[in-house]
Amino acid sequence: MQGRADWDLVVVGAGPAGATAALAALQHSPHLRVALLDREAFPRDKCCGDGIAPHVLDVLAPLGAADVVTGWHPVERLDLAHGQEVVQGRMRRPVHVVPRTVFDARLVERATAAGATLLRHRVRAVASTPAATVLDGLLSATVVIGADGAHSVVRQALVRAGGRVSPKGARPRAVALRGYAPVSGRLAGRQLIRFGDRVQPAYAWSFDRGDGLANVGYGELATDGAPLTRQLMLGELERLVPGVVETGTDWRAHHLPLSSWRSGREQPDGPVLLTGDAAGLVNPMTGEGIYYAVATGALAGRVAAQALAREEPAEAGSQLRFAVGRLLGRHLRHTWAAGRLARMAPVIDAGIRSATHDPRVFDQLVELGLGDGRITRRLAGGLARELGGARGRR
Ligand SMILES: Cc1cc2nc3c(=O)[nH]c(=O)nc-3n(C[C@H](O)[C@H](O)[C@H](O)COP(=O)(O)OP(=O)(O)OC[C@H]3O[C@@H](n4cnc5c(N)ncnc54)[C@H](O)[C@@H]3O)c2cc1C
Repeated sequence: MQGRADWDLVVVGAGPAGATAALAALQHSPHLRVALLDREAFPRDKCCGDGIAPHVLDVLAPLGAADVVTGWHPVERLDLAHGQEVVQGRMRRPVHVVPRTVFDARLVERATAAGATLLRHRVRAVASTPAATVLDGLLSATVVIGADGAHSVVRQALVRAGGRVSPKGARPRAVALRGYAPVSGRLAGRQLIRFGDRVQPAYAWSFDRGDGLANVGYGELATDGAPLTRQLMLGELERLVPGVVETGTDWRAHHLPLSSWRSGREQPDGPVLLTGDAAGLVNPMTGEGIYYAVATGALAGRVAAQALAREEPAEAGSQLRFAVGRLLGRHLRHTWAAGRLARMAPVIDAGIRSATHDPRVFDQLVELGLGDGRITRRLAGGLARELGGARGRR
């Protein structure tokens, strides 16, 4: 079957998931014919908090791309706050705050340097034939990787085909707005997350980029209630992090498809793979998604290359489902549970208080929110003690 299509592999979307997928496929099989499609020209902006967890670099290092953050200051301090409760801590491993205009363009450069062909094209239709997957009647591929973000066209095609993939309305989503504002003294050198009082998770942030600007924003869970307007989100941001709205620029808002306990299991059989936001993989506590994007992108690229080498492209889907389950399955179940618990404001307060008393609880909360952490006994015990104490104090 390999060789009949125009391309061995077409990756739709050249964000972190897509560029990493192309890179991983070409690292495995340097002679593959790989097209990396995006509707936009790079460098391009992407609405994001720009926080790059250390786990992202763990994935990129074996692909020779961990230096995509070079030149941007690592940030070690993290403040978590809700009302009067505050914990200020030093993260065990620093995060980077790199504008997506820079980060994504650097990753795309790595993919093209490895041999991927970058094409500017907006995919609108995905059709399956026995020999290949055909995009817009123009491009055919033996394997397709959907890395086209929160409103993925590739995912919608798989939903229409029936089976495992849940449609948009059936999944939890958040909406968030971000801008860039000059960093003032109290926000310098740190990441601040301040929870609000609306439907949780709801929080404002300020992430110092280290170049005089901070990425600032506000996001919350999307519900069937009144729509989250730009005015409402700017109002909440100003209330929680005063002063940044007036000086901020480049405001943009976007959806975040939050993961659930079953997100890793939705990948259907066959030669069309889903990664990153297209696979519905955004941390339901924190809105972090770049780690999952590069992690699933790397797995999808490798699985695709292996299936092509064996001339069994239809096996790629089940293999990716297995690989994602092995890497993230347990973590996704724990973050889903933690996300549900964090919808209750007293649990957020208990988490902050517990992290104040116990630095290891602080580390474990960071790990759960940024990478592949779990609800450990220590974390659960700390929460339970603080919740019990709060009841005692009432
Ligand atoms: C306000 C906000 C703040 C966030 N903050 C953070 C944070 O600090 N840290 C973090 O880790 N995560 C954060 N996230 C989540 C993070 O942005 C995403 O999880 C991440 O971008 C997912 O990467 P991706 O490659 O899957 O998709 P994307 O980055 O969305 O890339 C998808 C690509 O596909 C292209 N595309 C889309 N449709 C088509 C089409 N039909 N044809 C061709 N190309 C197409 C797009 O142009 C884009 O380049 C935030 C999200 C939001 C909205």
